[in-house]
Amino acid sequence: MHSLKHPIAVDENVATANLTSFHYGSPGSGKKVYIQAAVHADEVPAMLLAHLLRQELDRLDAEGAIRGEIILVPAANPIGLSQVIHGTPFGRYHLPTGINFNRMYLHVADALKKSLEGRLGSDIDANVLLIREEARRQVAQWTPKDDVETLKKTLLAMAIDADIVLDLHCDNEALMHMYTGTPLVETVAPLTALLGARVLLVAKASGGEAFDEACSRLWWDLADHFEGAAIPPACAAVTVELRGENDVRYDYARPDAQAILQYLGHAGVLDIPLLPLPETPCRATPLNAVEPLEAPHAGVLVFHKRLGDMVEAGEPVADIVNPVSGQVTTLSSSHAGLLFASTAHRHLLRGAHVCKIAGTESFRTGDLLSA
Ligand SMILES: [Zn+2]
Repeated sequence: MHSLKHPIAVDENVATANLTSFHYGSPGSGKKVYIQAAVHADEVPAMLLAHLLRQELDRLDAEGAIRGEIILVPAANPIGLSQVIHGTPFGRYHLPTGINFNRMYLHVADALKKSLEGRLGSDIDANVLLIREEARRQVAQWTPKDDVETLKKTLLAMAIDADIVLDLHCDNEALMHMYTGTPLVETVAPLTALLGARVLLVAKASGGEAFDEACSRLWWDLADHFEGAAIPPACAAVTVELRGENDVRYDYARPDAQAILQYLGHAGVLDIPLLPLPETPCRATPLNAVEPLEAPHAGVLVFHKRLGDMVEAGEPVADIVNPVSGQVTTLSSSHAGLLFASTAHRHLLRGAHVCKIAGTESFRTGDLLSA
């Protein structure tokens, strides 16, 4: 194992920031795995999980049990991690610009459609090598205009040519759930089962250019474009939502770490005793079948339902209670589904996010991720 320190914000007259990555195994010796935690810097369960993974990887490295290359970035956002407003950590958006740290990553497919014209054929392995080489080159040519883009470029440069990318996040209050690309459902199914995820949200393009999609979507974009060429979905990139922001507990993080190690073992990256895969507890849900509920007016949020409850269409999910006007509005979803995530706040302003319900029927269009 060796670690690298990447300069992110280095102007000498202001606060500086560096990013640290830990590198296991050797490049080219097998599959490449990239794992990062808390690019939304206030999503702390991810950092605890990364810490436990690092301990396990150190041990496996000493035992010679790493078969490919693994890069671990246990705190992926030193800029966001330093932002605190009056005592409250603030790590989802860059405070000076309002930019979401997990949006607007460089999507290299359009450049590759030009640079790879006439160069791809029926040899799937040769295509994968060439696409990875071109993707690395495109990311290297990205000229960051500020510190946040330097951070994004640094992270993406480590992940763009990986076989497996795990981007560890959490929601406000939530069940374990995951996001991935529709073409990756079967590849990701073992991880879903091992982590006991209740929802696997899938889309071919969710909008917003999140990190996992910047790594994975180029493969099916190129496959759609170069119809005659053999191009697999070669990067299994997943955003893992590790329950809610206060679910920072060893009795969650320890089994989660073992689940990820087992996934890497089943993928042939770790030489460890393999346990049988559990039954998959959830089916893939189209991201456009998720119904978000919002507060129609300001008030106190009172849930009728709990996380994990199944909700029928029209059934009361929560009330918004305005204690001054006396107005009480009962919220319900228009589609049946699983209540899997909610805000952590209990007084909301008009239009605020209340909760998300995973249905089965696709009905939404446009950008499918929250801001
Ligand atoms: Zn997040």
